[in-house]
Amino acid sequence: MKAEIIAVGTELLLGQVVNTNATFLSEKLADMGIEVYFHTVVGDNPKRLEELLQLADSRSDLILLCGGLGPTDDDLTKNVLADHVGVPLVQNEAGLAALNAFFAQRQSTMTPNNLRQIETLQDGIPLPNRTGLAIGCLYKGTKNNYILLPGPPSELKPMFLEQARPLLEKEFPTTEKLTSRVLRFFGIGESKLVTDLAEMIEHQSNPTIAPYAKPNEVTLRITAKTEDERSANALLDQTEAEILAKVGEFFYGYGEENSLVEVVVELLKKEKLTITAAESLTAGEFQATLGTISGVSEVFPGGFVTYSKATKVSFLGLDPEHLEQTGVVSEDCAKEMAEAALRLAGTDYALSFTGVAGPDELEGQPKGTVYIGLAQKNGPTVVTENHFTRDRSYVRHSSVMKGLDMLRR
Ligand code: ATP
Ligand code: MG
Repeated sequence: MKAEIIAVGTELLLGQVVNTNATFLSEKLADMGIEVYFHTVVGDNPKRLEELLQLADSRSDLILLCGGLGPTDDDLTKNVLADHVGVPLVQNEAGLAALNAFFAQRQSTMTPNNLRQIETLQDGIPLPNRTGLAIGCLYKGTKNNYILLPGPPSELKPMFLEQARPLLEKEFPTTEKLTSRVLRFFGIGESKLVTDLAEMIEHQSNPTIAPYAKPNEVTLRITAKTEDERSANALLDQTEAEILAKVGEFFYGYGEENSLVEVVVELLKKEKLTITAAESLTAGEFQATLGTISGVSEVFPGGFVTYSKATKVSFLGLDPEHLEQTGVVSEDCAKEMAEAALRLAGTDYALSFTGVAGPDELEGQPKGTVYIGLAQKNGPTVVTENHFTRDRSYVRHSSVMKGLDMLRR
């Protein structure tokens, strides 16, 4: 079953409202094994909506329309669909009762335009609205099936979950379900990842492999279509193993939410190890990132922000003359900062960040040049030299991510 989602509303086209309804519906439909092929947004314009319905008819079996079920003149989705399929609109009895009760309770008179909200397509299956007044509808046409849902997410979500979904499952049973797994990578760009996996991606069918780039990371969503969960997991395990054989070096965790910092903090907790940091160009961003994880105090007692040369000397005890010779954008400075932080905080690890966030160069070094040191209680200090791209905030974010990655390894 091929589905598509049409969101109706000029406010969406103007960029005033984000089309979260489409995201929500897509995710729920995917869980049901219904594949969504298109998302479209159209303004409150009958002619363009009708054109879009014709296009949707030609390519989809199930068309979900959201928005424009309200009482005002610009709410015209229902009327356009009724004309499109050639049936009249009729009043829904239960909806009318709910509408009357609503106005009676508020002790106010109902304006006649409210009656528009309780109209549904003749021969359609009405979808009651538990959190609002506008009635939705499932209409089974000769060629296609349509679902009308209200625009406000607080109405659309319960109506879909409680009314539309059970109906869909009953009317259009699918035996195959989609199961997804998200793999997360750091230290490899999307284009390189896709190149390394080119052959797999080219020959994918089940599971499918979809890459997605986030700032400083790439995720791969692998999705299997099966009748039961066990065979889904077997398929996903096999594909995951093939992927990791190629790019496993950059893999760090699973799931949409699991961030690199969570993975690192989890690792430190498990091994009962502690971390501190001395930050120059990141000015505390690394430590603030640690602070986003609840319970991080187990592994992070605190650290240093030493933005100027003076505080590198006064807080960390670096030798001012030596610092003058090496400069702050240097391997030596990173090494000494990390080692001083380790000594002062008494932790198992200490990271240091020093470099050029930009936009201007510093000590003759271009923006994006960042030295990151990792001092260890039981091991040698390592320093990486990095050349990050883009703007100041990206350079700082990249530095934090790279520091986390050094810790993970
Ligand atoms: P109402 O009875 O409130 O007029 P409606 O069904 O007519 O409901 P719209 O008028 O299209 O829906 O939208 C009402 C509000 O719902 C919008 O102003 C917006 O805040 C929200 N909304 C509409 N469409 C979407 C969408 N696709 N994603 C997220 N929010 C939306
Ligand atoms: Mg409206």
